[in-house]
Amino acid sequence: MATGKINVSVDNIFPLIKKFLYSDHEIFLRELISNATDATLKLKHLTAIGEAKVEYGNPIIEIKVDKEGKKLHIIDQGLGMTEEEVKKYINEVAFSGAEEFLDKYKDSGKDTGIIGHFGLGFYSAFMVADKVEIITKSFKEAPAMHWSCDGSPNFELKEAKKDDRGTEIILHVADDSTEFLEDNRISELLVKYNKFMPIPIKFGTKTETLPKPEGAKEEDPAPTKEVDNIINNPVPAWTKQPADLKDEDYKGFYRELYPTQFEEPLFNIHLNVDYPFNLTGILYFPKLSNDLNVQKDRIQLYQNQVFVTDNVEGIVPEFLTMLRGVIDSPDIPLNVSRSYLQADGAVKKISSYITRKVADKLASLFKNSREDFEAKWNDIKIVIEYGMLSEDKFFEKADKFALYPTIDNTYFTFEELQEKIKDNQTDKDDKLVILYASNKEEQHSYIEAAKAKGYEVLLMDSPIIGHLMQKLETSKEKVSFVRVDADHIDNLIKKEDNQISKLSDEEKESLKTNLEEVIADKGYTVQLEAMDSESSPFIITEPEFMRRMKEMQSTGGGGMFGRGNMPEMYNLIVNTNHELVSEILNTKTAKKRERLIHQSLDLAKLSKGLLKGAELTEFIKRSYDMVK
Ligand code: ADP
Ligand code: MG
Repeated sequence: MATGKINVSVDNIFPLIKKFLYSDHEIFLRELISNATDATLKLKHLTAIGEAKVEYGNPIIEIKVDKEGKKLHIIDQGLGMTEEEVKKYINEVAFSGAEEFLDKYKDSGKDTGIIGHFGLGFYSAFMVADKVEIITKSFKEAPAMHWSCDGSPNFELKEAKKDDRGTEIILHVADDSTEFLEDNRISELLVKYNKFMPIPIKFGTKTETLPKPEGAKEEDPAPTKEVDNIINNPVPAWTKQPADLKDEDYKGFYRELYPTQFEEPLFNIHLNVDYPFNLTGILYFPKLSNDLNVQKDRIQLYQNQVFVTDNVEGIVPEFLTMLRGVIDSPDIPLNVSRSYLQADGAVKKISSYITRKVADKLASLFKNSREDFEAKWNDIKIVIEYGMLSEDKFFEKADKFALYPTIDNTYFTFEELQEKIKDNQTDKDDKLVILYASNKEEQHSYIEAAKAKGYEVLLMDSPIIGHLMQKLETSKEKVSFVRVDADHIDNLIKKEDNQISKLSDEEKESLKTNLEEVIADKGYTVQLEAMDSESSPFIITEPEFMRRMKEMQSTGGGGMFGRGNMPEMYNLIVNTNHELVSEILNTKTAKKRERLIHQSLDLAKLSKGLLKGAELTEFIKRSYDMVK
């Protein structure tokens, strides 16, 4: 038997280990299973190249909880260690790894997040155990060894009795960590970190129902048998070649990743690069609503099939964090803070690769099955619009497939739209006027007025659309987006046939005074216009610029006008050529005129959705009086 002192410079490293990674204690299990996996894969490699002359077989890794004995066992059938190897890899290498790690991150320990993932390796066992044993037998001809250490820098190493190849790690779980003796807790960890690791992991057994033997009676119970409970899928879809996967396989893998999600994904993107960095993965476009606060943290990051985190901030661009799926890359540095990560060259490349792949996938969907793409547009637009806003590279590509649906469900690309309206939707400065509505119901009468003149009206209803319009207006030449209720339609779009007002200046003056007296509300500006006699007599409009700024403030990106609320500003546009307007002017009694104005004004408010409360009640009463 050999005893000795682990080569220490920090007097007692284990309390430190324990304290340092307090919140992340649970990762010890992932570390130990990773080691068991590595040991098994190394053996596989050695047998494959003929270096190890042993039968590889079908090795598994087993986790056993001994609640009574307060022990946790991690058992593998990998390559094992000889005495020399234990001394070298456990006493020297593993320890110096742990020491180095602590040294480096002692001070930045508070900057958690990704720190704490990997690096501590074997010694992370001491976060939850006050004594750790290793019983190991190498595939080489050498006696089995038994190493144990009680958390002080002293270890003990002696020969052991173990006939089968591999390593068993025994943790004597500390009193403050007994949660790790609960089956449920261990199951939870295995599912979280090891669900897709490459070697089958056994945790207990389960009962499997067998088919009934022939001639069995109806009431006979089906026979059962106890089988290994394997908790992982060692060959998850992302590790396979796209050519070997069918649509059904991708959907099946989605269900594996998100068992509680019953909605199917819209489509997927298989990532697969090995140069200049290594990355595989599958991203899914889920059905997204117009809610910007959709749950993020749905993309899982793996390193060689070991779960690392579900926070991929900094690794994929913000707009893609709305997607779901898996990214697996050994090239993402993990022992660093988020801010460092974002500045890392490899990570930048990874991020732009993913962005490009997503853009290419969307482009090919658009090109190859436009109908399908249109049908999905509503569910994916938020990601695309957000991407166009935040990533210029993505904007360039998406500009060719981003869709602009009309109120009647015709989908145009920007270019198609431009082509369609260039001859009859321009303003007095020859700018293209893109009319849109944000709500079909609320803006109904305005939409109808525009359609009656043969104009196209888009339906733009996502929460960030104001920001995107702003961007399009600056990046395209001579384009302006105008909501249908921003002004009278004839003011928005240039018309050849200028109307001449039927009213004299005097009449106009008196009309205006009458109107202003009745409205009395400072929020309205009365504007007399000579329109064709078929157009509405009274319309309330809200200038595009102010309204859009207000909306953009409420979806972030404001600031231009501070945080204060901007006032509501409406125009009351009066068509001086309408019959009703002449009638108001020609009414002899003041009382009757006032009633007409009130009634007309309320109708205009009603059509803009502004008539509410006492005003609405008053309007209804007045209307009954008028019709009875
Ligand atoms: P790393 O895995 O990054 O090398 P660890 O601290 O986790 O660092 O492990 C240190 C070394 O101990 C491993 O490189 C390996 O040589 C050895 N080792 C740990 N666990 C096992 C095991 N289950 N079977 C064989 N060797 C092991
Ligand atoms: Mg390790």
